Amino acid sequence: MFTYRYRELALPLDKKGEVRFALAKTLRIHPEEIFNLEVERFSLDSRRKGDLRWSYNVVFDLKRKVRATGNNARGLIESKREIRSLEAEPGCNTVPMPSHVNIIGAGPSGLWAALHLLRKGFSVDIYEQGKQVEERFRDIRKFFVDRKFNAFSNVLFGEGGAGAFSDGKLNTRSRNLFSETVLKDMVEFGVDESVVTFAKPHIGTDRLVLMLRQIRAEIVRLGGKIHFSTCLEDIEIKDGRICTIKLREISAYAGMTSANTEIAESHWKPCEALVLAVGHSAREIYQLLHARGVQLESKAFAMGVRVEHPQSLINMRQLGNVDTKLTGSAEYFLATPTLNKTSSAYSFCMCPGGVLVPCASEPGTLATNGMSYSRRNGAFANGAIAVPITAGAEGFDIPSSGSLFGGLDLQRKIESDAFNVGGKAYAAPAQTIKSFLAHREDKSLPKSTYPCGLVQSNLWDWMDKTICQSLAEGFQNFDRKIPGFINEGLIVAPETRTSSPLRITRNNETLESVNTKGLFVLGEGAGYAGGIVTSAADGVRLAHYARRCK
Ligand SMILES: Cc1cc2nc3c(=O)[nH]c(=O)nc-3n(C[C@H](O)[C@H](O)[C@H](O)COP(=O)(O)OP(=O)(O)OC[C@H]3O[C@@H](n4cnc5c(N)ncnc54)[C@H](O)[C@@H]3O)c2cc1C
Repeated sequence: MFTYRYRELALPLDKKGEVRFALAKTLRIHPEEIFNLEVERFSLDSRRKGDLRWSYNVVFDLKRKVRATGNNARGLIESKREIRSLEAEPGCNTVPMPSHVNIIGAGPSGLWAALHLLRKGFSVDIYEQGKQVEERFRDIRKFFVDRKFNAFSNVLFGEGGAGAFSDGKLNTRSRNLFSETVLKDMVEFGVDESVVTFAKPHIGTDRLVLMLRQIRAEIVRLGGKIHFSTCLEDIEIKDGRICTIKLREISAYAGMTSANTEIAESHWKPCEALVLAVGHSAREIYQLLHARGVQLESKAFAMGVRVEHPQSLINMRQLGNVDTKLTGSAEYFLATPTLNKTSSAYSFCMCPGGVLVPCASEPGTLATNGMSYSRRNGAFANGAIAVPITAGAEGFDIPSSGSLFGGLDLQRKIESDAFNVGGKAYAAPAQTIKSFLAHREDKSLPKSTYPCGLVQSNLWDWMDKTICQSLAEGFQNFDRKIPGFINEGLIVAPETRTSSPLRITRNNETLESVNTKGLFVLGEGAGYAGGIVTSAADGVRLAHYARRCK
């Protein structure tokens, strides 16, 4: 057998997946001459508007040699199949770990750490302050109607973490065996197998929720224990090593804020290995770790606003006049340097056909984000337009500027100002991009998907001026790339949770805190990952390194 790869095999939009016939036609051979055909990656090639194609990279075997001749065979190369396995990756079984592990947080990083530790024979308890995803869904729906905030069960907290009520984009900047393992696990839990090979995989909230139920069942089947409505309150460190943790159960009644939620007595539990997978909205945990002497450092992050546009505008500008049932709704990726090139504005976490959601994690604050369903067929597109913020929010107008908690304080200030400007009932401050650029409040606002109402507001009156200035420059640039971006755009503010303002400093070969033995820190909260797949891959990595020591 001879193994070949073919790069950028072009298929018409209505022939998605029909790779064998297209390849045979291109190579001028019979389809049955092709053996072991595998798609390595495919994407929508939209470089030529009006002539969009699917583009496939494939590997296959032939019994005879073929020659790359003429235009039709320009993507053909003789090749070898790579056999890669997680076990062969560096670091496997190198970090001694007690046989019982406590994991805090059932977001992507906590769930995947649990799954892979259990598969290696560890025993695992997961503690999650929020509820099972089905109950969480009901709490979120209820909140959109009655606006009574539940500090433990919301868009950010509960089974599946911040990733559960999201756009469900599964792309990652760093494709490696850990992230590939996550995507293959997802397929095992019922997700369409194309997520492994598609360049921009997406599953949407509806499919994420179904997948989470399967993961839960598998964790339980492997002997893992998941304790919902149970919160980590404190930790005890002796001689530089974690030794006990304090847990508190939150009653099923679950009141509306942490202040009036009915909570049971807390209890201390011995703990030799603690995995913190708490996400970057667990702000009390950062404060607790700092108070207990765990090393943290401030890091650069980003903040800005959400913008919403008619999806039809984005489709037309990005794809031209095509049937989006074949291509899916269009996305955008925009970036530009601003403020004499010292700063920049860029789009982030764009949700085609999606909806806006309020996603505060503390009472009296407001932040926005975007989510979508698997079909992404809503009438609006939303995306974050973010501006980089320096570590510790150095140079920003807050008393703690430049200190460890400066970034977190800046997030809180903007979120609490937004809550007040919005009328203290989770309506979000909003402004058309046109009025924003003219520094004036709108008389009326266009339609939006934001579920708790909008309030007209001139963002320059209360949002940080440096952020506003960078956004304004960004919008001018984006309008040149997508004409209509300004005239048809609505800003809904603020977007403060793009990434973590802090890092729990860890050893990158063991994922253990640099100054606290037995404390392993994962995912977005640790400040080393961002996004569903990269956070989950951090969990796979931890289990990959771990070696049972007793
Ligand atoms: C609305 C929205 C849309 C998003 N869309 C996407 C997307 O499309 N694609 C993408 O890749 N990423 C998306 N993200 C980001 C992604 O969700 C996160 O990067 C990812 O969930 C981080 O995973 P994690 O496990 O590190 O933390 P999290 O998902 O934040 O999970 C942490 C969990 O820990 C729990 N916890 C915290 N403190 C405690 C405590 N003291 N005791 C017990 N439990 C605790 C929390 O309740 C939470 O459930 C989105 C985020 C949001 C908010």
